[in-house]
Amino acid sequence: METGNLYKVLGVLKGASQEEIRRSYRKLAREHHPDANRDDPKAEERFKEIQHAYEILSNPKKRRQYDEGPRTFFGGGNAPQGNAGGARTGDFSDPDLSDLFGGFGGLGDIFGRSARARETSSKGQSVTVSVNLSFKDALNGVTTRVNVPVEEACGDCRGTGAAPGTSPRTCPECGGRGVRSRDQGFFAFSEPCVRCGGEGTIVEKPCPTCSGSGRLRKARQVTVRIPAGAKDGMKIRVPGRGSAGKRGGATGDLFVVTRVAEHSVFKRRGDDFIVEVPVSFVEAALGAGIEVPRPGGGTVKLRLPAGTQDGKQFRVRGAGAPKARARSGERGDLIVRTRLVVPKKLKKREREILETLAEERDEDIRGELFKKVGS
Ligand SMILES: [Zn+2]
Ligand SMILES: [Zn+2]
Repeated sequence: METGNLYKVLGVLKGASQEEIRRSYRKLAREHHPDANRDDPKAEERFKEIQHAYEILSNPKKRRQYDEGPRTFFGGGNAPQGNAGGARTGDFSDPDLSDLFGGFGGLGDIFGRSARARETSSKGQSVTVSVNLSFKDALNGVTTRVNVPVEEACGDCRGTGAAPGTSPRTCPECGGRGVRSRDQGFFAFSEPCVRCGGEGTIVEKPCPTCSGSGRLRKARQVTVRIPAGAKDGMKIRVPGRGSAGKRGGATGDLFVVTRVAEHSVFKRRGDDFIVEVPVSFVEAALGAGIEVPRPGGGTVKLRLPAGTQDGKQFRVRGAGAPKARARSGERGDLIVRTRLVVPKKLKKREREILETLAEERDEDIRGELFKKVGS
């Protein structure tokens, strides 16, 4: 589907609040609903576009990903599905919207997407947690433990939700399909079975441990390897350590987002670090070999050429952060930025030398400036 600018589709500004997005969506959805525009063959397409835009922008995580544009995540494989607690495609989980769609006799068949019974098994939800790292740990890499709130299958009922000794039985209302069909004027549509809530099975005696849900919330400790050179905001995927799937479905994934403490001297930029070093007027004028601290300890030598200016940048190749994504031991660079320091006090001898210099050096340093002002 050609999405264009999702904000434009919903008629809101980029910085719009969730409430504004929701309001605008409700308004547009009413206006463009195919049921209300039966004479307009394009209404459905437009409505889908609005739906799609809302689905992304109403989910803070998807919205952030959309705002940031395409990006890759560490760990290879699939990017996260973004459904940790969020809505799946076409799944209107916002209860506030039920009245909107309730009035239109169900959306299912209009779009050829019937309200199916929930799949017999489904993958567990992915879980995202953040981990705080010191500058040093992020640079060198570290193995750490994180607390992960997950849903696990209840052991007492083996995830069925039925009290031990009993088992769920097929819903007599829908015969296990989870949906009921109904004709209403122009449209035939299906709706979730009320009796079984769309599950297709009913539990007569709920398991007391999980109150019939078949699932329990737990905090699980997971060991995560943070690669050397981890950046702030990096997302590390740990497959299969999220919530348990339903009815034998695969376990969801765990995503660990790094929060790296800032360093007072080294500023990160991509895989590079920037360090600002004081340089004396004499060093800058004459040129000098200086030592510069490097992240992770030690120093690097740098040759300043004569006539080095304030704010000049030098790149020391390979002295930056290890590239967390590359396993080849590649590193970023260290960018050294000079800061010219003028002595606040001079010794007698220094003063004499500089006074001599001032006399001998007949330099019109602001001439260029005044020329520009004049023209
Ligand atoms: Zn149970
Ligand atoms: Zn049923």
